[in-house]
Amino acid sequence: RNAFSVRGLTKTYGEGHSAVHALRGVDLDLPKGEIVVLLGPSGSGKSTLLNILGGLDRATSGTASFEGRELTTMSDPELTRYRRDHVGFVFQFYNLMPSLTAFENVELVTEISENPMEPGEALRLVGLAERQQHFPAQLSGGEQQRVAIARAVAKQPNVLFCDEPTGALDSTTGRAVLRVLRDVNQELGTTVLIVTHAAATAQMADRVLHFADGAIRDVVLNEIKLDP
Ligand code: ADP
Ligand code: ADP
Repeated sequence: RNAFSVRGLTKTYGEGHSAVHALRGVDLDLPKGEIVVLLGPSGSGKSTLLNILGGLDRATSGTASFEGRELTTMSDPELTRYRRDHVGFVFQFYNLMPSLTAFENVELVTEISENPMEPGEALRLVGLAERQQHFPAQLSGGEQQRVAIARAVAKQPNVLFCDEPTGALDSTTGRAVLRVLRDVNQELGTTVLIVTHAAATAQMADRVLHFADGAIRDVVLNEIKLDP
């Protein structure tokens, strides 16, 4: 079964003269367990699709299912449960609690999850075993993003959604963050979707979705994945 199946998905913001057609009809099947990169210029609809598949936003028309369950007809409480039980998010900015240690930031999530890892195990997975008792201000940008990834994967989500995860980092640090995402995919089998406008990110993907003007113009499968 696919992780996601999408048919005729549209999203329009606003109405009439000021309407913005963010998605103009997207069809897509994504197998489980892949790293998928959504690539394309700013404003081409990548984040909109990510937010709909992640249950953060609703489509205007069309269908989108997660492992056979239709997202577009879910009630708000069902969508909230979907996000809580199946989905992890990583954003450009790390959104860590400054008054809590790395361990405690991850623990915030594991305490309310059904089937969590130990916070320490999640931090080991992202290479921060030695930094568990550090506060965010004592960590570099790359390390803070790795705490955010540990927090997102600690509940053992089926899917990890990453919106410009390296957008605030220099290229060397960004590559280290991408390697962590690859490690999560390989070790846990998590499906990983990454929105980026950095073409170099595509080389680590199983599948690259090329966006332009609210549509997927091309899908490229990588026979050989390269290290970030
Ligand atoms: P990308 O992720 O490729 O940069 P987005 O999905 O963020 O593109 O945006 C697609 C289009 O939808 C853009 O024109 C953007 O300005 C518009 N858009 C996104 N979110 C909103 C919103 N909440 N209200 C109005 N327009 C929006
Ligand atoms: P990375 O490549 O993972 O981003 P850096 O090489 O930038 O890491 O940082 C190396 C070490 O320096 C980090 O382990 C961190 O403890 C410390 N460090 C980096 N930036 C800061 C900062 N702004 N405040 C405190 N410590 C920092």
